[in-house]
Amino acid sequence: MKFTKFFIQTQKDAPSDAVLPSHQYLLKGGFVSQEGAGLYNYLPLGKMVLDNIRNIVKEELDNAGAIEVQLSFVTPHSLWEESGRSETMDKEMLRFKDRKDNSFVLSPTNEEAMVNLVRQRVKSYKDLPVNLYQINTKFRDEARPRFGILRGREFLMKDGYSFHTSTEDMIREFNLMEYTYKKIFTRLGLEFRVVQADSGAIGGSGSKEFHVIANSGEDTLVICNSCDYGANIETIFEDESEVDALNELSYEELQNKKIEQKCSCGCKLSFKKGIEVGHIFQLGDRYSAPLKAEFLNKDQRKENMQMATFGIGVSRLIAAVIEQNHDDKGCIWTKTTTPFMCEVIVSNAKKEDELNAGLKVYEELKENNISTLIDDRVKERFGFKMKDFELLGFPYAIIIGKKLQENIVEVVCRRSGEKTDVAIDEVVAFIKDKLV
Ligand SMILES: [Zn+2]
Repeated sequence: MKFTKFFIQTQKDAPSDAVLPSHQYLLKGGFVSQEGAGLYNYLPLGKMVLDNIRNIVKEELDNAGAIEVQLSFVTPHSLWEESGRSETMDKEMLRFKDRKDNSFVLSPTNEEAMVNLVRQRVKSYKDLPVNLYQINTKFRDEARPRFGILRGREFLMKDGYSFHTSTEDMIREFNLMEYTYKKIFTRLGLEFRVVQADSGAIGGSGSKEFHVIANSGEDTLVICNSCDYGANIETIFEDESEVDALNELSYEELQNKKIEQKCSCGCKLSFKKGIEVGHIFQLGDRYSAPLKAEFLNKDQRKENMQMATFGIGVSRLIAAVIEQNHDDKGCIWTKTTTPFMCEVIVSNAKKEDELNAGLKVYEELKENNISTLIDDRVKERFGFKMKDFELLGFPYAIIIGKKLQENIVEVVCRRSGEKTDVAIDEVVAFIKDKLV
């Protein structure tokens, strides 16, 4: 892609309410733009990241045997009355009426709709188990939308729902999804922890959260320094005010807090901050009982289906990647989430030899299936282009500049800052090598 033909507008400043790095950099880099309180547009670069994440989520779920559907974003209010959540979710649900005075809700989550769909179609134990998922827009009317797309009102979520003939089979699928989620977050290049969690408003018994470790996270975790044990403090401190007090502390302040208790493995525990990006629940018959989602067992008797539900905050993951991967100059995308792997920066695009050499490298990278942006802007100075590269955060830049006379270009690694002179004929092989 050529910068001059694309749609990127970087900005010098972020709005004053943008306190988190992801909020600042995603707006400054033109990945997203704000449309209203908690409402965001995805501009081309942001959409590319969103699609990268979405594709990995879909690939791994499909591999695990889950089946994709797409439910209506608008759900009849009557469904929420049937499950009893019309009252418990209350103001988070954006309700409206159509011209015939029927009440509707913009889906904040889809347990009810999915149970409704399955109860109409699944009749026998022979039709089970089934795990249906969608990657779809959700709307929650947050009282305080903030932190950009980390806590927006409208967001993209992967929500999956599985239905079973027995608790054992439901737990089997729950474990399979835990394994699948770990694969997803690993492929996204994230440092994360799976922790025991409270079930909150969704209800049900067993539940686990997936947290991206980041100093700016809203949740406080206790994790073991040597094994993979982790817990949300909500589950280990009984006193709610103690939990609130710890959640108020910054990451730096938390590091001064010592934990007397040791992990069951015998090693030290420490506090970390996490951003919740996934949550899996064993629901049992929490929804299937009130909504009468039944099947005929082998003895032709009716039983409630056993259910589990699995969520991933797809759009929130964009912000989580940046909260974990940034510096004071801008974003540092992971290799699987970045919109472009490489940027060719033509130092002075008025010089024909520089521009042509840049275009040649650019074409060669494309031929090798390395997604590349070429900064071919004529008016912008080199320093400005470098600042944009650092803000946008693609993994590598190839700078076509002064040393072109000696057939040398400079490769910059965004994450390490390392700069390497490479012969122009060898630069594509050099980049390919880095991507293995
Ligand atoms: Zn341990």
